[in-house]
Amino acid sequence: MFTSSELNELKSLLAEPKKITIVSHRNPDGDAMGSSLGLLHVLKQLNHQVTFISPNEFPEFLAWLPNSNDVVIFEKQQNVAEELLKSSDLIFTLDFNALHRTGDFMGNFMKTLSNTMVLIDHHELPDDYAKYLFSNTNYGSTCEMVYDFINALDYNNLINKEVATCIYTGILTDSGGFRFPKTTPATHRCVAQLIERGVNNSEVYNLLYDNSTYNRLQLLGRALQNLKLLPEFNASYITLSQEELNDFNYQKGDTEGIVNYGLTIKDVFITAIFIENKDEGIIKISFRSQGDYDVNQFARKYFNGGGHINAAGGKSFSNLEETVNQFIANLAKEKQS
Ligand code: 5GP
Ligand code: MN
Repeated sequence: MFTSSELNELKSLLAEPKKITIVSHRNPDGDAMGSSLGLLHVLKQLNHQVTFISPNEFPEFLAWLPNSNDVVIFEKQQNVAEELLKSSDLIFTLDFNALHRTGDFMGNFMKTLSNTMVLIDHHELPDDYAKYLFSNTNYGSTCEMVYDFINALDYNNLINKEVATCIYTGILTDSGGFRFPKTTPATHRCVAQLIERGVNNSEVYNLLYDNSTYNRLQLLGRALQNLKLLPEFNASYITLSQEELNDFNYQKGDTEGIVNYGLTIKDVFITAIFIENKDEGIIKISFRSQGDYDVNQFARKYFNGGGHINAAGGKSFSNLEETVNQFIANLAKEKQS
């Protein structure tokens, strides 16, 4: 948590109406959107002028979140977004640890700003750009950190159904449905209160997970057919080429969660999914692991990425086949060392 003097400063900053912008990472997930919109709903009740800026479009399966219609998309509304950011009294950056995580385009602009920034995030190794830093990798989600932050400011009474629904969404998605190891008694106590404040937990689950298109499920089928096992490294991986994505009319968010299937095989401790993106000229990679295999380090060292010990991502500028070969070679290197 912030120190008590930082909390006092933040509290006095928030005592008068301010222009506040909330920013999250590119390709926002449930935690990025949930923490940002949850905080937005609290700050609005305090009469601030608040906007949430997402670097790019958010996935359809999150489009039901309260106020998601008002999100400003930096890569589509650059002038509006830049003006908002420049004129902000305070900028909250949520669920990321380095300004480049907002993407090259928005990240370069963010680096030119001298506004007061607040960072709330649970990824490893935060960069040094924020005046107020709440970074803690023991949290399973940024949403749970925002919940603790709201309480630390003594604004628990502002957690209404909208706030609670947003925060619940990020906790649910980032904890893989309360199953990842960072799900603690505190997480469940938080969730208990969110439900008391009106979250319809069953409906949220349905909205998030029972809204697949037929194509998405077929794409999952293809991904599972492409799943390869590397028993010598206790590893597995999945590939999806641009052509395959096109075959199933890929929409943003369609590949969300597919990577986790690779870990459900007995004796597999590290897995990856390689997704070709011809537009961006990259292979986007997600890594997952169990136990102490550190995919954050692996992604940083070999694939221009980062994240958490058991869930990380990165990218490669080689083609799909070469990238997979590099992955296998790097697994071998790590096994030797
Ligand atoms: P996912 O695989 O679900 O996209 O991401 C898993 C975790 O790794 C998330 O916490 C995400 O923020 C982080 N992550 C994903 N891609 C990248 C990347 O390219 N760079 C860094 N630093 N972190 C990433
Ligand atoms: Mn997160």
